[in-house]
Amino acid sequence: MNIILHVDMDAFFASVEQVINPSLLGKPIAVCGAIEGRSIITTSSYAARARGVKTGMPIYLARKACPSIILVEGDHRKYLYYSMQIMNILKRFSDRVEAYSIDEAFLDLKGICKDLEEAKSLGYKIKKTIRQELKLPCTVGISQAKIVAKVATSLGKPDGLFVIPKNELDRHYWTLPVKELVGIGQSTEVALKIMNINTIGDLANAPVTDLIRRFGKNGYWMKQIALGNDPSEVVHDGLQPPPKSISHSTTLDQDIKDRGRLRAVLSYLVSKVAQRMWVHGASYRTIYLVVRDSSFKTVSIARTYDGHDRGEALLFLRSASILDGWINDNPATKVRLIGIGISGFNYGAYQMELPLSRQARQDLAVTDIVTRVRRRFGQNSILRANALV
Ligand SMILES: [Mg+2]
Repeated sequence: MNIILHVDMDAFFASVEQVINPSLLGKPIAVCGAIEGRSIITTSSYAARARGVKTGMPIYLARKACPSIILVEGDHRKYLYYSMQIMNILKRFSDRVEAYSIDEAFLDLKGICKDLEEAKSLGYKIKKTIRQELKLPCTVGISQAKIVAKVATSLGKPDGLFVIPKNELDRHYWTLPVKELVGIGQSTEVALKIMNINTIGDLANAPVTDLIRRFGKNGYWMKQIALGNDPSEVVHDGLQPPPKSISHSTTLDQDIKDRGRLRAVLSYLVSKVAQRMWVHGASYRTIYLVVRDSSFKTVSIARTYDGHDRGEALLFLRSASILDGWINDNPATKVRLIGIGISGFNYGAYQMELPLSRQARQDLAVTDIVTRVRRRFGQNSILRANALV
């Protein structure tokens, strides 16, 4: 029997901030890109939501809705760190885990649980384990198909567990508006409305020929999903070969030669590379820097180190020293594009530590240092515009 379990953390960024600073527990808090300026709310605690604070709301409106709101400047690396701990816990319950987003995952329970009842007790066990080890709340949804399991989670929010068995789609699934389905955006929603299709049930009952005429192949799949026949598999690590290299590059708004500004851009690229390295559980031996100058000449400089490493701070220092070398050799050259990559991966040497161990605190401290390096170079705007989207 196909059994899919979906886990979604509740108010994830806000909950992580409350774990790190327990004096915020139970209070209306909101995480935003920056406390001042025209920033918007990324996530808010349920206490804040109860007072009308919503994701995407500008800060001034959130303050208006809830004058006692406590604003916290978001730090993506903290959330990524907790995300990795969550994924590691989930991997104890199934060898097939798909990290769907930073705070969401699908578990394939086929062959692990014999029926939905068993999956339900496993779901409670997962909730309890995450709560005990990380102090974080989550909601679990269970069904026989991925998209239905995700809908079940949204019905169980917050801190709940919801099961939609295939023979009960009429009660919990078909009554919902079509927009609850992943992949049905606003324009599709409008197009369906014109066809008098409003609920998932309407979609399940619609003649497939009408749907195909209007949406092509997608029309067929939409009906299948409405019928609870989502054929998509849980895409776990075992299905994807690990990457051989990880790199990020960016073309600058203007060609520049200023060392400080180039370093700041590099620091941003390093943080992106480091995040992906962490997600893959890899450590690198080789760093390569790519520089394209204003005459479109491109060079790649690689450096291989003795041992494997996975620290972001060291990765930045090493990359910056490669960049410094290039700038010293080409002091008058303006840079058009800059990129940084890592390769020579080792996957085995990487061990996840439980949070709040000494190592974990050190990791968080390292990421804090990197944050301060960025601040010193005054490139916050570059980070803010990108780091949280
Ligand atoms: Mg969530």
